[in-house]
Amino acid sequence: MFAIDLRGRHALVMGVANHRSLSWAIAQQLHRAGAALCLTYAGERLRDDVQQLAERLPGTLTLDCDVTQDRTIAAVARRLHREWGSVECLVHGIAWARREDLEGKFVATSREGFQAALDVSAYSLLNVTNHLLPLLERHGASIVTLSYLAAERAVPNYNVMGSAKAVLEQSVRQLAWELGAKDIRVNAISAGPVSTLAARGIHGFTGMLRHHAEKAPLRRNVTREEIGGAGLFLLSDLSSGVTGETLYVDAGYHVMGL
Ligand code: NAP
Repeated sequence: MFAIDLRGRHALVMGVANHRSLSWAIAQQLHRAGAALCLTYAGERLRDDVQQLAERLPGTLTLDCDVTQDRTIAAVARRLHREWGSVECLVHGIAWARREDLEGKFVATSREGFQAALDVSAYSLLNVTNHLLPLLERHGASIVTLSYLAAERAVPNYNVMGSAKAVLEQSVRQLAWELGAKDIRVNAISAGPVSTLAARGIHGFTGMLRHHAEKAPLRRNVTREEIGGAGLFLLSDLSSGVTGETLYVDAGYHVMGL
């Protein structure tokens, strides 16, 4: 049987909050394929939960990294330089906006709320990549981030997060161009809705899940495992000719006109 073999590769997976996180679904697939893993969590309050998850994947490192703090990103880069010397896979599964900016009027988004959402959810992809560049360019690498259809369509209540996802997807294309010469690929997965901590912060999320399941060509929502599998594909050599792409893993919802 053909299997994806990532033994000898090092994968940094950012954005695991709990067992429902999409980053966790990708981490599990990477582990099964043999990659060495490091999971990061945003602040001490999540440390125990993420360490407990990491214990399910023997040999996995866990490190604190709040992407609004450059010093914690630099500390991760230093530690991985010492531990591994290179990073071949990077998963960016990070997004955040103020609760009040994910309901109510988009037009009334504050300057601070707009900046904070774009900083955490889009700028962090550039900033983390830049801090890790010496490690990523060592043997070449594949980077995957997570986006949503609100990057290109109007979605009720998605508000400032739609703006952040639009910037994120454009950053994927721009980074793909700039880093392609170093054999670093950059892609996004545009995932259909899945119940996670971040998703639950979107006002009316349960209705979104129902709507997607009714309208999608596959007449259901996607599973975490399907997003994990797509992540594994993009992080492995099976996708070696793919970069700058947004891959829809949404049961086909995005192709519908009505
Ligand atoms: P999740 O489990 O809540 O993951 C979001 C992660 O972002 C959490 O680990 C969160 O940590 C982290 N984060 C927030 N602020 C951070 C910061 N300053 N520094 C570092 N990490 C920070 O939810 P998820 O749904 O799996 O989200 C992962 C990605 O998938 C996001 O980009 C999301 O937009 C995207 N996505 C999700 C769906 C969906 O329906 N679930 C659909 C399409 C795309 P804290 O818990 O500490 O805040």
